[in-house]
Amino acid sequence: IIWPDVELIRNEFPILQQTVNGNPLVYLDNGATTQKPVQVIRSMQEYYTGYNSNVHRGVHTLSQKATSAYEAARHQVASFIGADHTEVIFTKGTTDAINLVAAGFRKEFLNEGDEVIISTMEHHSNIVPWQLACEEKKAHLKVIPITDKGELEMDVFESMLNPRVKIVAVTWISNSLGTINPVKDIIRLAHAQGIPVLLDAAQAAPHIQIRVRDLDVDFLALSGHKIYGPTGIGILYGKESWLHKLPPYQGGGDMIKHVTFAKTTYADVPLKFEAGTPAICEAIGLGAAMAYVTQLGIHKVQAYEHQLTKYAIEQLSTIPQLRFIGEAKHRAAAISFLIGDHHPSDVGVLLDQQGIAVRTGHHCTQPLMERFNIPGTVRASLAVYNTTEEIDRLVQGVRKAVTLLG
Ligand code: PMP
Repeated sequence: IIWPDVELIRNEFPILQQTVNGNPLVYLDNGATTQKPVQVIRSMQEYYTGYNSNVHRGVHTLSQKATSAYEAARHQVASFIGADHTEVIFTKGTTDAINLVAAGFRKEFLNEGDEVIISTMEHHSNIVPWQLACEEKKAHLKVIPITDKGELEMDVFESMLNPRVKIVAVTWISNSLGTINPVKDIIRLAHAQGIPVLLDAAQAAPHIQIRVRDLDVDFLALSGHKIYGPTGIGILYGKESWLHKLPPYQGGGDMIKHVTFAKTTYADVPLKFEAGTPAICEAIGLGAAMAYVTQLGIHKVQAYEHQLTKYAIEQLSTIPQLRFIGEAKHRAAAISFLIGDHHPSDVGVLLDQQGIAVRTGHHCTQPLMERFNIPGTVRASLAVYNTTEEIDRLVQGVRKAVTLLG
């Protein structure tokens, strides 16, 4: 596998240089959260040691520095996804970003009898906000079914589109199955009927290039911590026309133009959606993370991870007791499986004893687990710093677990 820099890359992630339970750490829980390179850690340390100050309101030097760095991070995010900086709203993460859109639709655009379309493979954060909105407005939540391989049934999706549908909200990459959904087709089909589309790009951002104009997507949400950045920060991209139409999410400082007790006017987008002191340090860290990935080259990252995923699937396939959950043609970075009838957490504990970190359980996709009639899966999810040697350790580890579980 051609990725000559992998040791150099690993050296940039201090946390990877440790042993866990007596073995060198193999971190394969990147779908839950990624580790952070020194570039990100340093950017955050520089903020707190050099220019910690509140943004947007200060005339003094530190506040101006903080404001410039915060807004520079917004520009960095914008260029990472191919948007204009006025279309990038800082949020707490993907969940917060989806809630922002769902709250706006609930208030302004969703009425009794309307429909919202999501899919079977959504994370709870792209189910529950829409469910809450639909319950309140007596609208209907419609779910795109999936095949046994874990792919969307696109012909069914097409037949679900009708004038009552107010938004389609789907994930780009499934966190549980690794499926890459045909988002361009989804957007084209929805737009043909005048329906906007929100993409949950939480799992896409670290693995594939995002070009929002090219996609023509209306809303896109992602989390900083899944793309080598800090927790507590993410973004919502919204087409400018939508951001003007969408009502404010929360009220408070920074999101206003003028306040009187009789009436408040709001700041321009994106600040209209950023009430209160934002996560300044985290935004700066996210900017540094996206600069880091840009410097690596997202296409190189994708090509490397694709080969590594293929290798992992091939190697894991040699274990007779192992059954994959999700076998989509187009997939990225996440591999879910079960060992015989053993509970996924038993396998996870045995892997942890060998220093191998995987996630077990329903991965916040309970309806998807129900679709496959399973309690959960063991999920190995990859990142740029993983190696073929680590995949070999995983395979050995699973073999050992198979033996121990009997
Ligand atoms: N969507 C997907 C596909 C995810 O994988 C996750 C995180 N596991 C989320 C949404 C939620 O992201 P966050 O918890 O960072 O808001």
